[in-house]
Amino acid sequence: MTFTLEPSYDDNPRLQDLIVRLRSYLRDELIPYELEHGITAETKLDRTILEHIWKRSAELGFYGISLPPELGGQGLSFSELCALKEELTASGAALSHSVLGDMGGPLRVGAIVKYATEEQRERYLMPVVRGERACCFSITEEDAGSDVRRMTTTATPDGDTYVLNGKKVFSSAAPFADFAIVVARMASTEEAYSAFLVDLDTPGCQVLDGEVPMSGQQMEGDLLFEDCRIPAANLLGEIGQGLRIGIGRITLNRLLHCPSLIGAARRAWDLSLDYAMNRAVFGQPLLAHQAIHHKIAEMATEIYAARSMVMATAAKADRGDNVSVEANMCKLFTSEACFRVADQAVQIHGKAGLTRGNEVEQIFRSLRMFRIVTGTTEIHKNAIAKGLI
Ligand SMILES: Cc1cc2nc3c(=O)[nH]c(=O)nc-3n(C[C@H](O)[C@H](O)[C@H](O)COP(=O)(O)OP(=O)(O)OC[C@H]3O[C@@H](n4cnc5c(N)ncnc54)[C@H](O)[C@@H]3O)c2cc1C
Repeated sequence: MTFTLEPSYDDNPRLQDLIVRLRSYLRDELIPYELEHGITAETKLDRTILEHIWKRSAELGFYGISLPPELGGQGLSFSELCALKEELTASGAALSHSVLGDMGGPLRVGAIVKYATEEQRERYLMPVVRGERACCFSITEEDAGSDVRRMTTTATPDGDTYVLNGKKVFSSAAPFADFAIVVARMASTEEAYSAFLVDLDTPGCQVLDGEVPMSGQQMEGDLLFEDCRIPAANLLGEIGQGLRIGIGRITLNRLLHCPSLIGAARRAWDLSLDYAMNRAVFGQPLLAHQAIHHKIAEMATEIYAARSMVMATAAKADRGDNVSVEANMCKLFTSEACFRVADQAVQIHGKAGLTRGNEVEQIFRSLRMFRIVTGTTEIHKNAIAKGLI
């Protein structure tokens, strides 16, 4: 792999074709749509906007593209999915998270299909794959983040139902989801956690406005369960499999978040190069100064290093190997490296980079979050050491 701002995949004609088509959809349709409707990364999204994107992305074959053909996808490899995901954030499109179905869509349910019964598949998962319904994943609680075992939300068996009580916070996509995959502690046992499919309009379940994170994106919500009774048939997998379902998905997610961060860093690099060519200081373009050359070089090097390790790990995952240590290494390195790139981008932009409404300022805030979201830097280090020692 060599470093290029816009990678090409000539050794894989199917992927290269997809990349070209995706770039043109983003550039010629999605970004003009966002401009026309005044949509930015910080716009509170409603279902009408999102359903428009889901439908159009599905028509073009992008929505759920990585799923196996029997679920309506094209069975992309992890490497191919990584390549597409990088393009999405590199485009700067605010709605890029909804094109493949990352935010509440098919990419959320792909990893759990194997645990679903036939009925759950038809009623819950397939409508998500078709862009008719959306879901969120709810594990975190106010006092249970990295240490998920501290969760206090309980599921109490009662006849042919379970009764849920407790509160989940920071569930991405909750404000526009139809159902949640909720991990709760079994009330009758000490240490068993189970996953449940919960329709968000079930009596006793409320979707509350979540906190707005520093990225300004308004996509998180809290779920409050007060004697929320759900059918026993909504248990996903078996009793006691909740953390495996939740955390198994998170391990893979850690790898698959990386290309999105790399794409955002690539966008920041691109904007910085452009700014440095056009901004005049001391009688010449900013880019004429060697200190700026060094920043541009360092940023590109960070992006190249992150992309190389992510693609190497994705290739290993494609071969069916266990990548839990490497996925944590990728997320650790990529989130830190891409944040350094964003920081350099702000520095190159000077006061413009510190100003609300400037794209690098938004990228900086977004990338800062990923040193915590989907696993903190410290938890990745713990996981790497545990896997190696
Ligand atoms: C925008 C956003 C979206 C999110 N989406 C979802 C979602 O869809 N579903 C969901 O369930 N959750 C979601 N979360 C929650 C997210 O996964 C948690 O914030 C994350 O797991 C960290 O938990 P915490 O914030 O409670 O931090 P804590 O666990 O309280 O950690 C605080 C600090 O202590 C450090 N720390 C903790 N334990 C150790 C240790 N053993 N060794 C060293 N250091 C340690 C951490 O690294 C961190 O720096 C989201 C969060 C955000 C901000």
